[in-house]
Order: sequence, then C-alpha cells, then structure tokens
Amino acid sequence: MATISGGKCRLCRREGVKLFLKGMRCETAKCALSKRNYPPGERHWRRGKPSEYGLQLREKQKVRRMYGILERTFRGYYVRAARAKANTGVALLLILEHRLDNVLYRSCLAASRRQARMLVGHKHVRVNGKRVDKVGYLVSPGDEVTVASDKGLAVARGNAGEVGKARSVPDWLEVETEKGKVTPRREPARDDIPEAIQEQMIVEFYGR
Ligand code: SF4
Repeated sequence: MATISGGKCRLCRREGVKLFLKGMRCETAKCALSKRNYPPGERHWRRGKPSEYGLQLREKQKVRRMYGILERTFRGYYVRAARAKANTGVALLLILEHRLDNVLYRSCLAASRRQARMLVGHKHVRVNGKRVDKVGYLVSPGDEVTVASDKGLAVARGNAGEVGKARSVPDWLEVETEKGKVTPRREPARDDIPEAIQEQMIVEFYGR
C-alpha cells in the first residue's frame, strides 16, 4: 500500500488549510495550523502573486493530499472522471468519496483517512462479508462495510464516540457504530462534501 510520506502537518501548512490528516488532533488547539499558519521552511514568505498555473497546482495538491492519494492514482481518477457524462470536477470528487478509506473516515469509524488505510491494510475490514485490503476499493450504495476483527472494532467504536463529537456523519451513509458497520444509502452528492474545494481548477490543471 503506497502512501504519501513525510510530516502530515507540514502538508497542511504548505497548502494553508486543514487537511485533517491526524485524526482528533486536527480538531483541537494542538493543530499545527492554528499555531503556525504559514508554509514550512525558513523562507516562508512568498514572492509576488501566484500564477494561474500555481493556483491550479496547489488546488490539485491540496485535494490529492487530503485524500492521501499518489499522483499516478489521482491522475487515473481524473481520466476516469473525464469520461463521465457529469461535470468532470464533480465526477472526480465523487469517485474519491467512494473510496473505502474515505467511507470509513466519513462514517467516523476511523479518525482519519490514514487510520482508515491502516484498518484496511491490516485486514480488519470486510465488504459484503469478504475481506478487502485495497484502500482504493470503490464502495457502492448498498454495500455493507464492516470492521470485522475485535481489535479493529474496538478502535472503530472508540473513534465513533470521540470523533463523532467533533464532526457529523454525512446523510448518504448509514452507520451502526456498535457493529462497526457502514452502508451507503445512496450515491454521494457534491453538497455532501464539506471541505472547500474548487474542483474546476483541478480540471484546468490537467487540461492544460
Ligand atoms: Fe493538519 Fe491535522 Fe496537523 Fe492540523 S493537526 S496541521 S489539520 S494534520
């Protein structure tokens, strides 16, 4: 399972927004962005106004890092979204929302997408009764995602209690916390994504 390495808070500081990569810490005053809201490195000042290309690149990087996806995979999702009949930017975001790690994160059974990837990678997760160890598995409406092992279930229940106080589960997901189970009721919609994302800029970046 290839992941983005390096300091997580540095990524948020680089993008200038919370990417929610560290679970509950992101919801507290310990969040590094609350204390140091400037890019990492000694030379954190910026020269002049960023170019159009620079802005598009940063938006793409922000979303890619938020969902924890490598460039090659992210571009693959873009190509797939470009073939869809719907708006390409929206289609891209909705593909990302279907990912197994994201479904676990949105359901609050995982404190972060990173923790969700660990639960999946360590084989604690089943989809429709079958063990799935691919974090990029795309979950469809009606699929039953369960955190099946005792260890994983203890983590998921703990998260649901703690994380659930800080953020809410979107309407397209039905969660049974005690069973460690989440089922998409319907397809996610653009309005279900709470983060401020300008997806058109990502489309313009790849369309250059
Ligand atoms: Fe980002 Fe979370 Fe670190 Fe804050 S605590 S900078 S939101 S990873």
